[in-house]
This record gives sequence, structure tokens and C-alpha cells, in this order.
Amino acid sequence: MMREKPSIAIIGGGIGGLTAAASLTRLGFNAQVYEQAEQFAPIGAGIQLTANAMKALGGLGLAESLRSEGFAPAAFHSRDWDTGNVTNVLIMGEPLERRYGAPDLMIHRGRLHSALGTLVPRDCIHFDKRLVAIEQRESSAMLSFADGSRVEAMLVIGADGVHSVVREALFGAEKPRFTGRVAYRTVYPTARINGIAIDERAKWWGPDRHVVHYFTTRNKDEIYFIAVTPEPDFRVESWSMSGHRNMLLAAFAGFHPTVRAILSAASAVRKWALVERDPMPSWWKNGIVLLGDACHPMTPYMAQGAASAIEDAVVLARCLDHVGRDGISKALAVYTASRKQRTDRMQLTNRENTWLREKTDTDWVYEYDAWRTQLAWPENSPA
Ligand SMILES: Cc1cc2nc3c(=O)[nH]c(=O)nc-3n(C[C@H](O)[C@H](O)[C@H](O)COP(=O)(O)OP(=O)(O)OC[C@H]3O[C@@H](n4cnc5c(N)ncnc54)[C@H](O)[C@@H]3O)c2cc1C
Repeated sequence: MMREKPSIAIIGGGIGGLTAAASLTRLGFNAQVYEQAEQFAPIGAGIQLTANAMKALGGLGLAESLRSEGFAPAAFHSRDWDTGNVTNVLIMGEPLERRYGAPDLMIHRGRLHSALGTLVPRDCIHFDKRLVAIEQRESSAMLSFADGSRVEAMLVIGADGVHSVVREALFGAEKPRFTGRVAYRTVYPTARINGIAIDERAKWWGPDRHVVHYFTTRNKDEIYFIAVTPEPDFRVESWSMSGHRNMLLAAFAGFHPTVRAILSAASAVRKWALVERDPMPSWWKNGIVLLGDACHPMTPYMAQGAASAIEDAVVLARCLDHVGRDGISKALAVYTASRKQRTDRMQLTNRENTWLREKTDTDWVYEYDAWRTQLAWPENSPA
């Protein structure tokens, strides 16, 4: 039986929002994206797409284009911050791809975002639309934007990031918790490190701070680093806020010479306050649902924030694919039941910041396939 598909409004055109739009468009839904920015810009720095994220993106047809641009390291080294002694090696490359069915790829966040953008029809993305209010109606929601325009949709997906307005409308205001740590991040041409030998991907672990670096391009001509350090008085979160290079170098003054060479080679750095939340009891009410950082923001220590948003988007689209207009609530309940246990565990494991420092079981994170994982439909349900 043909089911009539609901109209869908996605708030936020970040990685989660665009993946949701791409997945839903692929399944024949009319999904419109409302993004507050005036246009997409290549913001951000490097992003690690672990095998679970790559499987989800592969299902959207992006595996080859991402692979042709990004870099798949042969190994990940964990090292002590001062001596450089290796505490763990994760073999990546071919063996990891064979084990998990997809590569672990490093890429510039802007390139990932652009690739996702190609999957969503241009006329389905509406820029300069900052959501300011949601009015819940009997079987729809009325959205109001800062420019005075209004839109009605049967289903609203809040993919509007850690300070989600949709989340606040559903569950009330509650600020995310500042971890007391900031991240300095940048990408720059590899030529700037003057040929010093560096790992293809490494994390240098200090007592209360750390540095991760990797190449972001297939031909290794671009390096990314993220350097995380305590700075309890800094509170700005922004993909484009400049950081003081001198403060960065002072914070890592005692680190191994290789780390200092990588940090010193940057001409400019961006700075970001790291925030998080506790797992939420629920992600949806009536015809409004959250995904990505809007419902489970996590620290970046396992590189799973974007990966989780991508997984959410695919699973949500799959749940909706099985119901018509009158089955939305059931689909949202199944989506939450299918996803929350995993993201709760991610949020809490991230917080420990021990992932891969020593030998670590990576199966539960990397094995997951959002297109195939069993959905939590109750017995005798539509699926
Ligand atoms: C330092 C750092 C490093 C990271 N490294 C990695 C990594 O290596 N791998 C990984 O998987 N993850 C990583 N992450 C996490 C990842 O970046 C986030 O989890 C991911 O961006 C979340 O995607 P999202 O779509 O939920 O939210 P966002 O990417 O924040 O997108 C939200 C979108 O909503 C829009 N928006 C917000 N409010 C409104 C409104 N009111 N109306 C309309 N639009 C609105 C915003 O403009 C934005 O476009 C890192 C995060 C940080 C901070």
C-alpha cells in the first residue's frame, strides 16, 4: 500500500542536517532545510571519518568521492607527550577496512560538507532562515524565522547543533556544560614543517592536555592539528574564532620537539571552547525530533560527534520510510530507541578521554552500519 509521505522541515544545514536531507531525499521524501547562515562556507578544520561514518556516507554514494580527496592513514600512534614513547598502535589502512567494511578517512570538514550538499536539491536549502519559535499544532508545527517568514511542516527535525533552539522549545532552556578546556585547531600546507618525519596520524597524551595531528588530503600536502588544553575562563564556541598562537605554544612548551614543530608551523589557529551535555531522557515530542549535537553533544576525543549525527540521520530516514503521515510518532519512538543507547555510551566514553591511549576495543564503534543495524520496532510493527 502506498503511504502518503509527510512534509519535513530540517532546522540546520550542518553535517547532520544535510545528511538527513540527503537520506530523506533518496527515500522520496520532501525535506526542506532551513539554515541560519547566508551561505555555506568552507569552515572548520580536519575531521576524522571513522569506518562507521564512512559506511553511512557510502550508502549515500559518497564513498569514492570522499576517498579520492581524503587521506587513509596506515596506522594511528598514541604517544607520551614528552618522551614520544608509543603507548598504543591501531593498525588502520587495508586491515581496518577489511575488518570494518569501510576505511577510516581524514578530510577537511568543508570538503565533507560540500559533498553532502551535492546530494540535496538546491531549491530544498533555504539560507538566512534562523528559527526563532515553534508553535505546535494538532498534526503539524508552525515555524517562525527571524526574517518574519513562517513555514508549516508535519515533521520538524532539529539538527541545529549544541545550542539547539528546537531542543529548547521541546524541553526548556538548559545551557551545555563547559568542560574547562579549549581546542586550538588549524590546517596548513605540509611544506611548512620542512620535511620533519611525523606519524600519519598520532595523539600525544599529556597529563591534562593533548595534541592530535593527521594529514587531510590524499597526497599528504595538508596537515591538521587539534591541541586541547585547560583554559577555564574562555567560553566562546565558534568555527571561526581566532586563537592566540603564543598562548597555544606556551601551553605546549614542554611537549616533545616534534609536537612543538607541528604547532609552531601554523601561521594562524582557531580556538573553540569544548562543551558537552549529559545524555537526555528523550529526543522527541509529537512531530518534532532532534538529531546530532542538538541531542547528544559530546567532546571530540573519539571523533564521533559528526559520525553520530550522520548515523542518526540515516537511521531516522529509515524509520520514517516505514510509516505514513499517521505513523510519525511511532517512527520517532523507534528512531530514539534504536539510537540512544549507543550515543549515551559515546557521550560517557568520550568524557573519559582515554580512547585508544592503550589497547582499546574499537569494534562497538567502528562495526556499526546505520543502513543495516536492526531498528527497534516493537513486534507486529510496520517494518
Ligand atoms: C574541536 C572539535 C573537533 C571535532 N572533530 C570531530 C571529528 O574528527 N570527527 C567527528 O565525527 N566529529 C568531530 N567533531 C564533532 C562534530 O563537529 C559535531 O558533532 C558535528 O558538527 C555535529 O553536527 P550537527 O549537524 O549536529 O551540528 P552542527 O554541525 O553544529 O550544525 C548545526 C547547523 O545548524 C545551524 N543552526 C543553528 N541554530 C539555528 C537556527 N536557530 N536556525 C537555523 N539554523 C540554525 C548552524 O548554523 C549549523 O549549520 C568535532 C567537534 C569539535 C568541537
